[in-house]
Parts: sequence; C-alpha cells; structure tokens
Amino acid sequence: DYYFLPTKQVAAATPPFDVNRIKQDFPILQERVNGRPLIWLDNAATTQKPKQVIDRISYFYQHENSNIHRAAHALAAKATDAYETARSKVQHFLNARSPNEIIFVRGATEGINLVAKSWGEQHLQAGDEIILSHLEHHANIVPWQQLALRKGLKLRIIPVDEDGQLILSEYTKLLNSKTKLVSFTQVSNALGTITPAKQITELAHQAGAKVLVDGAQSVSHLRADVQDLDADWFVFSGHKIFGPTGIGVVYGKEELLNQAQPWQGGGNMIVDVTFEHSQFHPAPGRFEAGTGNIADAVGLGAALDYVSKIGIDLINQYEHTLLLYGTKLLKEVPGLRLIGTAAEKASVLSFVLEGFKTEEVGAALNKEGIAVRSGHHCAQPILRRFGVESTVRPSLAFYNTCSDIDTLVATLHRLQSRHR
Ligand code: PLP
Repeated sequence: DYYFLPTKQVAAATPPFDVNRIKQDFPILQERVNGRPLIWLDNAATTQKPKQVIDRISYFYQHENSNIHRAAHALAAKATDAYETARSKVQHFLNARSPNEIIFVRGATEGINLVAKSWGEQHLQAGDEIILSHLEHHANIVPWQQLALRKGLKLRIIPVDEDGQLILSEYTKLLNSKTKLVSFTQVSNALGTITPAKQITELAHQAGAKVLVDGAQSVSHLRADVQDLDADWFVFSGHKIFGPTGIGVVYGKEELLNQAQPWQGGGNMIVDVTFEHSQFHPAPGRFEAGTGNIADAVGLGAALDYVSKIGIDLINQYEHTLLLYGTKLLKEVPGLRLIGTAAEKASVLSFVLEGFKTEEVGAALNKEGIAVRSGHHCAQPILRRFGVESTVRPSLAFYNTCSDIDTLVATLHRLQSRHR
C-alpha cells in the first residue's frame, strides 16, 4: 500500500506513513497563499478534503443522483444503496451495534439540538439537572441553556484546573439523583484537552444519568468506539474528519432513539399519515425528515474510508509526536503563553503572544501562507477561565509536518524580534 513506508524507513522516520504522498491527495494543499505554499493549521475549524472524497461526490452527481426511494427506479436504487452504504461505514467506524443507531444530520450542532429537542424536551422536567463541562463549545451549551429556560432545568458545570483538565473530584460532587444528563466534549476545541470520557460516562450512569459525548474534535484524532465508551449519544461533524460540510452524525443507542419522538416532521420519516394521526418509522428514519444531504453522506463515507486506510491509531501516534514537537518549540518563543497544558491533549496548540493582539498574529501568519484561527473559537467560557477573550490556535492533522511547525514558529520569532 503506497501510504506506508517500507519497514526499514519506518524505524528511522516519523511519521509512520508517507506524509508527502498523503499531501498530494489534497488538492487544496497544493495552493499558494500570498505567494507561499499553503500551510493548513486550522484543522480544528475544518479539515481539508482528499480527492477521494471530492471524486466520490462528483461520481454521485454524475452517475447515481436521485432521491432515495429504492423501489422507484434504477437511479433511486443506486442512490439509496450509496446512502445506506455510507451509513454502515459510519456504523463500523464508530463500532456501533447497528446501522439503525446512525442518524445523518447537518453536523455536531444539529446533532446536539436533535437530542435536546427530542429526548430532552420529552424526558426532562423542572428541577432536573444537566451537567456540562467548562470546556464546552457553544454548540454544547446553548441548546441546553435554551432547554433549561423552557423547562426550569439547572445546568451545572464541571470545573477545570490550571492545565485545562476536568477536575473529576468536583464532577462527582455535582452528580446526584436530579442529574438526568451529562453532556461533554471528548476533546476541547479551544485547548486540546482530552477528557476521560469513559470514566465520566461510567460515573454518570452509576448516578442514573444519560450521557452525550461531543465527538466533533475527537473522531479525527482518537479511535471512536461507542460500545466501549458506552455513551448514550455521540455526535460529530463530517467536515472535521476530511469529509464535506453539511453532513454529520448522531449515534444513539437504538432503544433510546426509538423511545424519543421525532423533533422534525415531514416526508421520509413516516409509515402512515392521515389528517388525524401520523405513525413514524423507527430510528434512523424517524429523525431524518425530508430529503437529506445524500451526496455529502456518501462523501463522508469516502472520508472515513480514507482515514481508516491510513489507520486512526497511526494517525494518533504521529499527531502526538507533532504536538509534542510543536509544544516544545512554541514554549521557546519569547512572550508566548500556551493556554491548555493538559497531560492528555490532541491536535490543538492555543496561545497568546505578549504585545500582540491575536488577530495581529493571525494576520502575520497569513502573510506567510499559514492558516490558523485567531478568536474565541466558539468557546468563550473556557477562554475566560484563563483570563483571555481570544487565542491564536494552530491545530494539527495527519498531513501536517514538523516543517509546517518550523515555519509557524520561525514566523513567531521574527514577529517578536521586530517588536522588541
Ligand atoms: N463541538 C465542538 C467541540 C466543536 O469544536 C465544534 C466545532 O468547532 C462543534 C461542536 C460544532 O460543530 P459544527 O459547527 O460542525 O456543527
């Protein structure tokens, strides 16, 4: 397989796969920005797409496009097969028990809203408590806040320590008989902290609460195994795992999904409709009202194939070495403060640079063709916990190299030396 270096070279070379060869699969990584080769370090915002994904979507529109009603005609059968094949690819990627546990949505945000507006709306009542963590993206705060306002629920927050790690002893104190849901991220988009998701889930279950894990930042870096994790729901976005925008996934335990009423009504999700009554399909159909994003679901399937071909464990191992390399070099930049220093981290290197606004740093990096996010990363509570409103956030994927980090760090050194 061309992605893998001959064994002899593997010992001598990190990464364990041919990154330059992989980069060739990503047309956009051949672009130049401000006359420089593009260095994409904004992977926590969105990832780039390999030609295998782009070609798969193009193939769909050229050869398979139809709405998905298998029995109608030949193309309908092809489109339905492609869509359902994508669903089973997601099932296997997450190690779910059944394809019925995989619901296609627009992304992680819509996934969390789906759970809040179906299960949450139907099963929670005044006085019930929901536990979130201080690390959450706004997507895992606002839907619960809206629900809490409507229903008189209480939100309780797991605090973090100075390194940005969840304080588990405080978490256990928050759990009580009123706790109905614990909803938290597996990887923080702002700091990169990996949370002890399995342990948090186990403790929540012991207290009788359900668990939603936000996998938006974890699926592209850590092996996802929903059976091992045992969360009740797990959500992620296709665009953060080298797939298209506008497609994402809610995994839910089948029994729970079928106990919840749909949050949207319309075509496709019904067995029978009269003016008096509608009967809904079981999951996943009941949560996929209307025509879904068929082509992009198929594209997501291709993205998961691509990641699996390289191997998520090798990706994890390589990115870990990159993260350590980047952390070491960034710490040597005068006046640079890393925010988020947890022992277990993935992909993200958030920092502020003394004497510069974060957008100035972002602009200076952009001049060199380096794309990073500067801002609040839709996670204002956790940034404020560290006394800042905004950080510069390079974030890594498997197509990044030590050389990308060298260019980033050299630009920061130049910026600092001009300032001093
Ligand atoms: N959760 C986390 C941890 C995220 O990082 C993001 C996006 O940045 C989201 C949820 C929302 O994802 P999307 O905007 O794709 O719905």
